[in-house]
Amino acid sequence: MIKQIYKFGGASIKNADALTNVLNIIKNEKELIIVISAIDKTTNELEKLVNEYFMGSDSKNDILASICDFHINYLKKAFVNKYDKALSDLNSLLDELKNKINSESTNDYDIEYDAIVSYGELFSSLIFSEFLKHNGIYNTLIDARQVIITDSNHRDAKINWQNSLDTVKKSFGNGIFVTQGFIGSASNGEVTTLGREGSDYSASALAYLLNATSVTIWKDVPGIMNADPDWCSFAEKLDVLSYLEAIELAFFGAKVIHPKTIKPLENKNIPMYVKSFKNPEDAGTIIKKLDYKLKLIPVYILKTNQILISISPKDFSFIVEENISKIFGLFAQYKAKVNITQNSAVSFSASIDGDNRYFNDLIGELQKEFYVKYNTNLELVTIRYYTEDSINKMTSNKKILIEQKSRSTARFLLQC
Ligand code: ASP
Ligand code: MG
Repeated sequence: MIKQIYKFGGASIKNADALTNVLNIIKNEKELIIVISAIDKTTNELEKLVNEYFMGSDSKNDILASICDFHINYLKKAFVNKYDKALSDLNSLLDELKNKINSESTNDYDIEYDAIVSYGELFSSLIFSEFLKHNGIYNTLIDARQVIITDSNHRDAKINWQNSLDTVKKSFGNGIFVTQGFIGSASNGEVTTLGREGSDYSASALAYLLNATSVTIWKDVPGIMNADPDWCSFAEKLDVLSYLEAIELAFFGAKVIHPKTIKPLENKNIPMYVKSFKNPEDAGTIIKKLDYKLKLIPVYILKTNQILISISPKDFSFIVEENISKIFGLFAQYKAKVNITQNSAVSFSASIDGDNRYFNDLIGELQKEFYVKYNTNLELVTIRYYTEDSINKMTSNKKILIEQKSRSTARFLLQC
């Protein structure tokens, strides 16, 4: 029976050297499910492709050509000459995507997004599975669209556990399996995606459904750090986290793990390791059930590209239940991701992610009943286990627009 699930993200398979690391990590495994993300920044490129396709712009062809070239070159490098079979399989997939891009788009952006962006994982998993075979590791490639059954909430689909259980159990037996993270399908057969960076969630969902003994997320950092090392020079690795702490960190925006990842693992008490594919012998970070309270150093989480929307009713009514539920109804309808809120008697503010493509529609709808102002390009800094010193480090010389503190967490919305 499958005991372990490994997930390799875009960075861990970004070129032929990285693939060699990966091969070393799995060469002695006999029972394993490997969940793969799209290679490097492919998902970002596919997002650009969808946008151009959806707008009917000719530049879609250039983006498509560069995605095709990138994958063909990658494959040729990884396989050094003996790539005929893999290349012909890859070309068939590339042709499918080309046909899609040359067909008429529907007017549902989210459906089109999932149909196109999902190719990133289809390409990477195909190449990876063939690469393993090429190196003597027999494996079966499983199409996640056939086994991960979701609702129809495109771009942020929820897994239907009941419907996925049978398909998952039937598909994964003994041996080594490769499958795609991030993608699934709705019961009407349409492809769905689980939200950006959702491959971790796929890995934990499979672990839950198959009662795996552990999940390991292989990354290009030593484990979960107390800050993003690209942002803070003082970042340190955290050796151990409880499920609860990991959920909190992911919820506040720590990028290392997708927020939905932890719950399935917690429910079945399955530990998760976050390790460096460059130093697989190192312990990394373990997330598990802890029966003692952790004493952590301050943990810093940065969310950039925030928009602060300030809303006040035109009729001067109080901001209480009725208005708040109306506002949140609109946030949900226009897929606004709300990160921090604050209200007074007659005004309500919320900071949302700035990459919302329905932003103008949302504002237009809010303006029907409310006065609305907004500030763009803000930063939201969360400090778990804050100290005076850690707050000064983050906020000095910055204008604070919202400040909130609980016993363990301080949050600041800052003008950059
Ligand atoms: N490839 C997808 C993304 O970049 C999913 C993932 O990497 O987890 O968002
Ligand atoms: Mg990715």
